[in-house]
Amino acid sequence: IKVGVKEDQPGLGYLDPVTGDRTGFDVDIARWMAASLGVDPEKIEFQAIASANREQAIVNGDIDYYVGTYSITDKRKEQISFAGPYFVTGQGLMVASGNDKITGKDSLTAEDIVCSATGSTSIQRIKDETPAQTKEYDTYSNCVEELVNGTVDAVTTDDVILAGFAAQPQFSGKVKLVGNPFSQENLGVGVQKDNEQLCNQVTDALKQMIDSGA
Ligand code: GLU
Repeated sequence: IKVGVKEDQPGLGYLDPVTGDRTGFDVDIARWMAASLGVDPEKIEFQAIASANREQAIVNGDIDYYVGTYSITDKRKEQISFAGPYFVTGQGLMVASGNDKITGKDSLTAEDIVCSATGSTSIQRIKDETPAQTKEYDTYSNCVEELVNGTVDAVTTDDVILAGFAAQPQFSGKVKLVGNPFSQENLGVGVQKDNEQLCNQVTDALKQMIDSGA
């Protein structure tokens, strides 16, 4: 079975460059789904797919399903289907520890450069709802690097992703999350639009996982 994931989001979808282990909540969900479909989780062929390329990968059939901080939205539902949500989070902001100017979304000005991933709900919301400048990358880890180097003023995405980066030892004391979450992101499992059977199977598996307390 082919499963699309992220591999640079610690605690969610992460590939350890040294051990080659995949870890994180999304990876666990992906493995649980495979098991409930009767597939040995060891046999999953993982494929890293960036935020901007998810719909296309699903439409093309490059992957069977996608688990990677993927917000259920009406626009995406025109192209694909979602099972879930299995997790509810909100958009947040991360800044350098020494930054006392940016305290939340409403404090952003036209002087601030905010970094996020191309094709994400996060970058769109900053463009729509704030005067800040934006910088885009394929992945959030690129944005975090820029933040630590001082070339952007903030990184924005689901606060659970930001929290995963902030908890990494190499960023300890360097970054902080500020303000309250300013959206609701319902994270779901992406599947092909016409594959009702798979969508129902994944939905049932998610329900069972939640109801059983697993
Ligand atoms: N959950 C948001 C989205 O699906 C941001 C995180 C991401 O890009 O994976 O656009």
